[in-house]
This record gives sequence, C-alpha cells and structure tokens, in this order.
Amino acid sequence: MPFMCERPEDFVVPMREFVTLLDASRLHPQRATELFEKISEVARLADAALTLLAGCVEETRVWRAAGSSSAAAWVADRMGAPLGHATAMLNTADRISELPLVREALLAGELSAVQADEISAAAIADADAQETLLSHAATESVASLRERCRDVRAAAIGDENANERIRRGRYLRHWQDRDNAVRIDARMAPDDAAPLIAVIDARAHALSAEARASRQLETFEAYAADALTSLVDGSSVKTVVNVHVSGSALDRGHTIAGETSRIDGVTPISVGAAKRLAINGFVKILETDGADVRRVVHAGRSIPARLRTVLEVRDPTCVVPGCNRRYGLEIDHVTPFALGGPASLENLVRLCRYHHSQKTLHGWRLEGEPGNWIWKRGPHRDRSPPAAGG
Ligand SMILES: [Zn+2]
Repeated sequence: MPFMCERPEDFVVPMREFVTLLDASRLHPQRATELFEKISEVARLADAALTLLAGCVEETRVWRAAGSSSAAAWVADRMGAPLGHATAMLNTADRISELPLVREALLAGELSAVQADEISAAAIADADAQETLLSHAATESVASLRERCRDVRAAAIGDENANERIRRGRYLRHWQDRDNAVRIDARMAPDDAAPLIAVIDARAHALSAEARASRQLETFEAYAADALTSLVDGSSVKTVVNVHVSGSALDRGHTIAGETSRIDGVTPISVGAAKRLAINGFVKILETDGADVRRVVHAGRSIPARLRTVLEVRDPTCVVPGCNRRYGLEIDHVTPFALGGPASLENLVRLCRYHHSQKTLHGWRLEGEPGNWIWKRGPHRDRSPPAAGG
C-alpha cells in the first residue's frame, strides 16, 4: 500500500509492460480466458480505487482550483468518461460510507463501478437488501441485477408515493429541429409510462419481425417510432402486456422488499396501477413466485359488455356516499379479484379514480349492498419501510 501512495508509477509500469507485450492473437484460448478474468478483477479493483479517490477529490475541492464546473466534470475529464459515469461514481463514493457490506465487496474487487452504483442506490433506500443484492451481483447479469435494484427501491420508497411525486412534475414537450423534424421529450411517472412503453416496444418488435421476413431491416428505434405513430393511425397490431406481480404483493396491494411488480422488461409499476390497467383489460397480471409464473389473475377484462352496461345504469356516479363524480369511473371488485371476488353484478361497483385508489391501496372498503353502501376505513395497513427498526 505505501508504495502506491509514494510512487504511483510503480503501479502503472508493470501494467503498461503487460499490455505492450500482450499478443492476444497468439494466446491459447484457455490462457486468454484466464487472463481476461484476472484483468477484469484488476479493472474492478481500479474502479474501487477510482471511487474512493473521486470521493476524496470532491471533498478537497481541488476540482475548483483546476477550473472544472463540478467534481463530476473533473472526474469525467480525467477518466475520459461520460459525465453520467462520473456522477454515478461520486454518488457511490458518498453512499458506501453508510453501507459497510457494499464497501467491503467493492474494495475486495467483487463489484464493478456499474454494479456498485446500482446496489448502493438500492441499499441506501433499504439497507437490509445489501446482502441479497451482493449475492445476486456475483451470479447474475448486470441487466437482471438492475431490475432487482429497481424493485428494492420501488418497494422501499412505497411505490405509489414515488409515482405521485414524479407525476406532479410530469411533462411532454415537442419542438422542431431546423429541418422541421419533430422531437419529443417527456418525463412521466413509471405507472403512467410503463404500459405505454410496453405497448410501443411490443409493436416495435412485431414490426421488426415483419421487416426481417421481407429483408428490409432498419434499427429497432426506427420501428419504435413507427409503433408510436401506429397508436393514432389505427394500423397497430393487438398487443398483450404482461405484468409480473408477486402473489403476496397482489394480496397486500403494494410491494415490500424482495417482491416484484413489473412489466416484462420495463420499469416497475405499482401494484395498484397494474390492477387498474388489468380491470380495464389493458394488461394481463401474472402471479409470480420468484422466476415462475403461478397463474394468470383474471381481472375485470372478463366483465361482459352487457354487465358493463347494467353497471353503468345502476351506478351512474361513484358509489361512495357523498361522491358525485360521474366521469372517468372505474369498475371495482368489492371483494378483490385477487381474493377470489367474482365478476358478478353483486360484487362490482363503479368508483371514481380517487376512491378506487383509496380502496385498492389505502385500506378503505365498501360494506353493505348496491344502493346502500357504507364507506369504511379498513384495519390498519402496515406501510412502514422495511428498514425501520421495530
Ligand atoms: Zn368517488
């Protein structure tokens, strides 16, 4: 250790020599594999060292003296890396001071910078998840680790609350480039955007497959743009969007640590939003147990058109006493479908979006019968974050 601090060149010289003498094309594949794994370890250790040093640079403010606009800009310049990469590294440096297990794994060369960033961001939200996430990092791809980390963050923050926070700042902007090309930029809550993205992706895949058959392949992004256009021109193919929800989360109404509620290959979606979309027939909920799909949860999609009409006549307004909203009503199962409530006239009511969400997510319930409903607060629901100590 002291040699590195005093004469950093001692550390660089052997590596430089190694690279100069490396004749990869002449290596035996077995040897090439071994070397690849060893040098990957060196790279991870280098990431660890860079993370610690970057944190130090930020504190000492030498970046300001060097004329950089921020510590991240300084780090990005020195590394020849994108600003996002440098920012992630500084965030990791900051977080690992509170996450001993992640810090230990990083310094042991077990984590790359990307893995450390993902895990530390999730573990800051739920420190109890450190161990599980670290063991996943050892065996799983970065893509699947990233999904797990998203699940942990969503569960820890309380998925509906996080959605609401982002939703308040939502926007969609469009403008034209100098050549009149139309550009779009949006920031949306995961619950709102995830189903939209899932549909666009599914249609883009279908268009791409068609194109492949006729050998006119363009980029996936090009087909995604066509998929977006197809939403308004009526040429779209029908798509099924699957949402994977842990059985336990389905009953509870929201996820906790270790559970999932996610659209195939897209961002997590809150359990409440998944249920609302399922009732409107937009998505199919697959009850999942780990990686296995246990069953398809039949939601209001099976409500026959005639039953819908009868309901519309019977419940012209939200059925909660005192609420007279008549627009944007949603069909609710009085006894939730996840608990076996049937799609029958007796078990269905129309609720406004607000009361529907109060019932699905916040423990409110309806008692009584059609024409004589009582709106009651149910037993206390535990929404305390999993990290709480008791
Ligand atoms: Zn209402």
